[in-house]
Amino acid sequence: MISYTSNTQFFGHSNPKELAEKFGTPVYVYNEKILREKMRDMAQLISGPSFTANYSIKTNANMSILQMALEEGLNADAMSPGEIYVLKKAGFPKERIFYVSNNVSSGELQYAMDEGVVISLDSLSQLERFGKINRGGRCAVRLNPGIGAGHHDKVITAGKKTKFAVSESDIPEIRRIAAEYDLQIIGINQHIGSLFMDPSPFLLAVEHFLELALKFENLEFVDFGGGFGIPYHKLEGELPFDLQSFRASLEVIVSTWTQRYGRKVVFKSEPGRYIAAEGGVLLGTVQSNKVNSGVIYVGTDIGMNVLVRPSMYDSWHDVEVFRDGVWMDDRLGTQKVTVVGNICESGDILAKDRELPMISEGDILCVLDAGAYGYSMCSNYNNRLRPAEVLIGLNGEPRLIRRRDTLEDLIAGFPEN
Ligand SMILES: *Cc1c(COP(=O)(O)O)cnc(C)c1O
Repeated sequence: MISYTSNTQFFGHSNPKELAEKFGTPVYVYNEKILREKMRDMAQLISGPSFTANYSIKTNANMSILQMALEEGLNADAMSPGEIYVLKKAGFPKERIFYVSNNVSSGELQYAMDEGVVISLDSLSQLERFGKINRGGRCAVRLNPGIGAGHHDKVITAGKKTKFAVSESDIPEIRRIAAEYDLQIIGINQHIGSLFMDPSPFLLAVEHFLELALKFENLEFVDFGGGFGIPYHKLEGELPFDLQSFRASLEVIVSTWTQRYGRKVVFKSEPGRYIAAEGGVLLGTVQSNKVNSGVIYVGTDIGMNVLVRPSMYDSWHDVEVFRDGVWMDDRLGTQKVTVVGNICESGDILAKDRELPMISEGDILCVLDAGAYGYSMCSNYNNRLRPAEVLIGLNGEPRLIRRRDTLEDLIAGFPEN
């Protein structure tokens, strides 16, 4: 077994104990070097034809990380007016934001229009709604190519059973609505699902999607979505997504298609997790140890409000154990434990029946691959405070990039009396 965080010098000049003492736990810790590397991987996914990668802000919306994405040449996808607002605050110009809307109000469409952001419509009725308030406008349409992929039913976003997008059989209807309201369909987008490690279903979906694209004459861009996986079982030797061979196949598909279409378009993708996940870990403190009906429970301050993925999708996150700042390997033996948080829910489980080094109270647990869908999905459930976020900069020094909630934050929204 190896330690991911020592191999990557994740904590720079600090160790988990020092970070816990300085910033408290639970705390999200990010590594700028890793984040920037992943951003470059995606920004340069395709060479040759014009290409942009749109960072999916829902995975991690920390302002410092958004600014890094901007510097690394990424564009951004927004799924809500709030995401548009935050992206603009981070410095993204309107041309670099794409609003992938889903079941939105006219007010939200108007907000995006006022901000000058291109909108993708997700149903025939939403396209018609857009046409009514913006006759003659330009927009994109999200298509469902009938092929889905993903690590859990809840993240498969194309295929037969999903709320997303317009089915390909409705393309004639899209054209009719566009003609009626004089709309220009300048882009099409898809997102078939999240966390694929095997490129073949994705490449098939891209090929199919590009066939559909031929039915639109005036495209300026074709956006084939995100979903590139990361190895959540890296401590057991799971290999990363094979970007090199994926890139080679994708380039061939895209350039062949460009010749058929006869016009240059910009290709886009929408990676989220691939960029943010491995550049973030979550540190928490072990507060108790007990045995209930033969199960050893390790009680921590990492509740499901802090990292919901294990409770929500049964997701696996590798866990490293640190004592006095030093990584614990297996030499003192291991035992099978269930790691839980401090929330009043029996589903508040971070890792079930996990073989880990012998853990004592006061140890620091380091949850890997927590940079995506970690902080962005955390909540104040049980009136717990959302954690702090810390960035290990390129110089190896930690700095606070979001403060922990305060008790006052919990009552900030109530009217004063
Ligand atoms: C969530 C989402 C993404 C990003 O998915 P990842 O699995 O994090 O890459 C991209 N596009 C759309 C439309 C999404 O909803």
